[in-house]
Amino acid sequence: LAKRSGRNSFRFYSKDLTVGVEERMHLESELRRAIEREELELHYQPKVLLVSGAMVGSEALLRWSHPQMGMIAPARFIPVAEDTGLIVELGRWVLREACETAKELNADAQRPHKVAVNLSVKQFQCARLANSIAEILDETGCRAEWIEIEITESLLLDRNDNTLQTLLKLRQMGFSIAIDDFGTGYSALNYLARFPIDTLKIDRSFINSSDKRNEELVKAILSIAQCLGQNVVAEGVETAEQAAFLAANGCGSAQGFLYSKALPKREFVALWENSCATGGGSVEMRRFG
Ligand code: C2E
Ligand code: MG
Ligand code: MG
Ligand code: MG
Repeated sequence: LAKRSGRNSFRFYSKDLTVGVEERMHLESELRRAIEREELELHYQPKVLLVSGAMVGSEALLRWSHPQMGMIAPARFIPVAEDTGLIVELGRWVLREACETAKELNADAQRPHKVAVNLSVKQFQCARLANSIAEILDETGCRAEWIEIEITESLLLDRNDNTLQTLLKLRQMGFSIAIDDFGTGYSALNYLARFPIDTLKIDRSFINSSDKRNEELVKAILSIAQCLGQNVVAEGVETAEQAAFLAANGCGSAQGFLYSKALPKREFVALWENSCATGGGSVEMRRFG
């Protein structure tokens, strides 16, 4: 194309553009095959109670290990999946996997475990979303109470009535709803009252910051959540100081490298079973961090 049309002044632009488009097209066709080739895997990051460090749940995070390209980060392939509509099929696969895992993790009824699953805005544009989720519950024997659905603020700014209807339906089915990356959207707070939201996940940019003003913002978010009766999860907790600050200010739970990164399913299930067997202490978790 333009790349081959000579050494003119457009070369830099067209070259960059071509590489971008080519990479996207390549990723797209590879992603289409990734599910059947079993290159995709869900990993699980523990979610812990800040007061005790006990594990209470997890977040399912997609991992793509390509035979030639190696590990490809979600930040690179999720946008491609969204633009091409592949996210709908991929999202169903993710949910089915997460439901199967949630069922295993809840085998001991004494210790409930909620698995959080990320859903893309594009999945909500599909009118069948709630039905398709109901089918997955049926097929896997998972209960909605074992799953938390993570959405981003942008979904709620979509001014789409279907979104509200779908969220209400999912809530009615027994799912809980969390706002992911809270505080990084468009700062429209009115949706907090309009939508059925159980949990706010404070974005890690507030947690991992040297700017003291972010501590004040964290306190303000905690106070909003408390007024609205919502749970709060702090994302990206990496240091004991951050955890202590959050606990002292009444934040309920946390995820982050301080506790553990996301682990492959087998390793994670073993960690959970071990944590149940030992009463859920935090100490053993650090070994996996
Ligand atoms: P997210 O949902 O906000 O997930 C949290 C991200 O922060 C994950 O990155 C996780 O590995 C990372 N993280 C956790 N603790 C720490 C920490 O202490 N420090 C730092 N620096 N990072 C931490 P990951 O797995 O690369 O995922 C990135 C994003 O990709 C996710 O952000 C989510 O928006 C999206 N994503 C991942 N899996 C899925 C999926 O199955 N479906 C959809 N639609 N999106 C997904
Ligand atoms: Mg998330
Ligand atoms: Mg997040
Ligand atoms: Mg995110």
